[in-house]
Amino acid sequence: MKSEFFASGVPENSLQQIHLATGFKIGQLPVRYLGVPLVTQKLTSKDCSTLLVKIKSMIDKWSSRHLSFGGRLQLVKSILFNIFGYWSRQLVLPKGVIIDIEKLCMRFFWRGNDIPAKGARVSWSQICCLKSEGGLGLRKLTDWSKACCLLLVRKILADEGSLWIAWIKGYCFKTVDYWNVGCKLHFSWILRKLIKLKDEARRLFWSATNLVQFKAWMVILDRLPTRDRLVRFGVVTDDACGLCAAGQESRNHLFLDCSYAKEVWGTILLHVFRCWNDALRWLVSSLKGKSLLVRILKLAWTGFVYFVWEERNRRIFRGVIRPAEEIVDRVREAIRIKMYRSHVNRLDNVNRRLCLAWDLI
Ligand SMILES: [Zn+2]
Repeated sequence: MKSEFFASGVPENSLQQIHLATGFKIGQLPVRYLGVPLVTQKLTSKDCSTLLVKIKSMIDKWSSRHLSFGGRLQLVKSILFNIFGYWSRQLVLPKGVIIDIEKLCMRFFWRGNDIPAKGARVSWSQICCLKSEGGLGLRKLTDWSKACCLLLVRKILADEGSLWIAWIKGYCFKTVDYWNVGCKLHFSWILRKLIKLKDEARRLFWSATNLVQFKAWMVILDRLPTRDRLVRFGVVTDDACGLCAAGQESRNHLFLDCSYAKEVWGTILLHVFRCWNDALRWLVSSLKGKSLLVRILKLAWTGFVYFVWEERNRRIFRGVIRPAEEIVDRVREAIRIKMYRSHVNRLDNVNRRLCLAWDLI
């Protein structure tokens, strides 16, 4: 049981009663999430001192063991970096703290303890570079930190159910999403940092490897903040579709009935199918299996949902309009990138036709 409750002005015996009745722990402030204080301001070095103390005590323990360079490298790699990774995945660590940790790692690596290294033979950044470039394959912590920030962005996008994300969505994003929220001054330091990574996140999640599937599921579960829902929650009063302005904007309208969405989906699927009935039910059942057709369908559906939703947001928040063909091109491109050089059995007739239709290399 991880739940805690927070109260103020409640007598101690009532607190105990609540604790006994619910099994929830009585929380202490500041709220900690996996050991890291949940603060809206930038984490200070003091907040992160536990982390440094932990790393230092481990180094003390190891210094007595007279390990070789190789042994120390393994330790730095596996243990120090794991602790660091664990922490910075929860919240973003300040640069000063990252530099301190890097220093500790460097000293331990060269000398086997945390006394400053004199006359280091190779620079730390060289050690950190890829093995193929002559380094030892340690990742530089600052790069690591950026990767952790992107991981947080991914958690926000995936709507991972943590307190922190619920808070950001409820109090900072309100009716917009991560891609459309502006960087406001009253936002916390961490959130501003994450918002500034928007372009990088887009590139990462959409170009190289990670065609995220969360939105496809949000649509199936009817969880996107479409206007019919926003009207129900009293957030907006106008429920006209952001794409065609003709229908009432609901999940079913936006992704199935809307003339714009129909044009996009119709163009995408013509390459594979002659007809398309009961799209959703079919999709849900076909999301299983690993055939090329299923893989492409999944990607097509995810891309369709993602880009249609993005287009709707662009129109509402930026007033920019793109024709349906452009969305189709984006979906096709995303599929091509995702499938680039993946193994396909081209002796199979269906596969061969699919590769031709989708320009897969
Ligand atoms: Zn519409």
